[in-house]
Amino acid sequence: MLFAKAGEPSGKEGLKRDTIQAVVLYGEEILFDAVEGLTDNQVGDLRDSVLKYHGANELTNYISLYLSLKTKTEDQLNNYIDSLFELEGEVPYALINQINIYLANKPETIEVILPKDLFVGTSDAPIPATEFYPTWTSDNPNPYGAEIWKSDTTLSLLLASQELGTFHIPHDDVMTSKFGWRDGRMHNGVDIDLQVWDTVVAAFPGVVRMARAYGGYGRVVIIRHYNGLETTYAHLHRFKVKEGDRVEGGQLIGLGGSSGHSTGSHLHFEVRFKGVPLNPLSFISFKEKELLNDTLVLKRTQNGYVAYPRGILFHTVKRGDTLYDIAKQYGTTTYKLAEINGIRRNRYLSVGQRLRVI
Ligand SMILES: [Zn+2]
Repeated sequence: MLFAKAGEPSGKEGLKRDTIQAVVLYGEEILFDAVEGLTDNQVGDLRDSVLKYHGANELTNYISLYLSLKTKTEDQLNNYIDSLFELEGEVPYALINQINIYLANKPETIEVILPKDLFVGTSDAPIPATEFYPTWTSDNPNPYGAEIWKSDTTLSLLLASQELGTFHIPHDDVMTSKFGWRDGRMHNGVDIDLQVWDTVVAAFPGVVRMARAYGGYGRVVIIRHYNGLETTYAHLHRFKVKEGDRVEGGQLIGLGGSSGHSTGSHLHFEVRFKGVPLNPLSFISFKEKELLNDTLVLKRTQNGYVAYPRGILFHTVKRGDTLYDIAKQYGTTTYKLAEINGIRRNRYLSVGQRLRVI
């Protein structure tokens, strides 16, 4: 787009570019369409550079108008239009038209509408997800009683987002044992093959609740995540974090081994919610090394939860994005996007804005 370089005029190149920009702006019916996506500073720079090479003209007046309109409320703008009609002499229809166009497409602040039961964690909480957990202790891997989940029905957790960070596979190797009943007893996690000294990383950002030796787990790290889950990394050879440490997703937390009750070196990896072990395979693709979806739905059963992924995805608007492009990218419609975000279909999108896309 021609406006991408606005505000960096230099020598002949700059002069040429500004001329092109001016022509394009004049050629456009709607000035505001052309400057949308630029920051106010960039628009200001564009005006200054046109002023410098061409002097004040209709274009610079329009740009100034655009910048001043943005600070006014809808009521103020309507009053302004009314006052323009009452001007003595010629009514400035062109100006009124521009303001009306601006009003019709006034950028709105998008309030992302989330499902009522969706938990979106706080990534700067000193202790993560205190909404779900009554205690924070480092001397017991699973200190929670059934009373903290028995009254739940269905809820969902936003597992990953721009604020909460993304998922990282703790160790990338072959899965040697799945979750579930095995040899007459419950296997509460999955086993991933590794060699002693191989690196193990945190699946999500959070705070280390435990980093010590504990029974059959051997040297075990347990992290409480901002998204509400707790993950367990057992049979480690060495710790690379200590209790109370804040960790990022993907941060090295230990070196693999076969400490505790373990035959051969491997990583025993658990994901729990309120102490209830979840099957990681129901929301993580170990093959693709990513989440099946951003959102995890937990439905309470007699013994705990069934977990399944649900799509609530967010798209961060980039320069040049249109609602139509975004809809196409996620296989949905502009109608649906407008509906789930509570916006008009013809609205302008601001760069950096987050849109719910599923
Ligand atoms: Zn295991």
